[in-house]
Amino acid sequence: MPYKVTLIHGDGIGPEVTKATERVLEATGVKFHWDLAIAGEGAQDMFGTPLPDYVLDSIRKNKVALKGPITTPVGLGFRSVNVTLRQTLDLYACLRPCKIYPGVPTLYPEVDIVVVRENTEDLYAGIEFEIRSPEAAKLLNLLRDTRGKAVREDSGFSLKIISETGTRRIVKFALEYARANGRKKVTAVHKANIMKYSDGLFLSVAREVARDYSDIEFDDVIIDTLCMRLVRSPQQYDIFVLPNLYGDLISELCAGLVGGLGVAPGANIGDHIALFEPTHGSAPKYAGKNKVNPMAMMLSGAMMLRHLGEKEAADRLERAIAAVVAEGKKVTYDLRPNSYPPVGTSQVAEAVIEKMEEEESVE
Ligand code: NAD
Repeated sequence: MPYKVTLIHGDGIGPEVTKATERVLEATGVKFHWDLAIAGEGAQDMFGTPLPDYVLDSIRKNKVALKGPITTPVGLGFRSVNVTLRQTLDLYACLRPCKIYPGVPTLYPEVDIVVVRENTEDLYAGIEFEIRSPEAAKLLNLLRDTRGKAVREDSGFSLKIISETGTRRIVKFALEYARANGRKKVTAVHKANIMKYSDGLFLSVAREVARDYSDIEFDDVIIDTLCMRLVRSPQQYDIFVLPNLYGDLISELCAGLVGGLGVAPGANIGDHIALFEPTHGSAPKYAGKNKVNPMAMMLSGAMMLRHLGEKEAADRLERAIAAVVAEGKKVTYDLRPNSYPPVGTSQVAEAVIEKMEEEESVE
């Protein structure tokens, strides 16, 4: 029986990297029934909304989705298709492995970090009060009455929401992931010295949850200290668990440590549904140019194969990607060694398929 998977091409570079990923996934021999769903700019034009209900229905039904990046317009309008998908489907764990494949351009010999980002709370909860709105005026009054602090009248507000429930489940997710994947240590990241009731809560709940996992080392670090240490010696870290905003920033930093966004995959996971997508965005300036690296999306596809229980196919796909990177002849501009000209997105798919076929013929 083929696996039924909701497939969202996205916009910008999304369709190119998704097509390349479809090709390599099908070349593993695993059978898929792609349930195509349109979200992002294409959906806005066709349905008048970037996230039509049928897309959510399809993901709820299939429980697994593979998604290309989607542009978030800056300023007014629909907040973000990506954030809305994660919140509406309660995909509370964002899993972003950042690992060096030999041959990528990097300053470091060895990095293998997994970022576990809380995906539904924090400053992404979307609870905001616009400057000079009636709600902002009420909040200003409340602050004046309860805190005695003068907050400027011309302020806008974005609330940082961190709950005990949200923290408990993401920390548990990180520790369970560590156990299931033979990892040794989980580090909670925070700024609890300044934000006592949000990050402070995150830290105290994380410590409490970690006490039930005596087989996994647990420690914590303040976010600013972490940034400095990551640049100096990222090798010392294993798994991070972080609130939403820090998770966004640190996963991008970690992507930079291991060769860039072109090789940084990801997954958004809830209790019943998983949606796989690269860390990178829609890079509109490269859209339609057959130029960008599809490997981040392909590696997200390998994560999906593992989620489906197709470990052997996932390993084979990952080995083929690693072999293409190591050889360095058919890689995109971002991974190009000086001696070879870069190839395009679709040629990378061909190179990866070739490597899988080569491996098969040796066996
Ligand atoms: P971006 O990740 O799209 O691109 C930043 C730069 O990274 C690009 O200009 C390019 O130089 C490089 N890059 C990105 N992907 C690459 C790839 N596959 N291969 C090679 N190089 C690559 O970030 P941005 O420009 O800040 O965001 C563009 C849009 O994407 C925004 O609207 C943003 O909100 C959205 N976005 C969407 C998602 C998502 O769909 N999950 C994630 C992040 C950003």
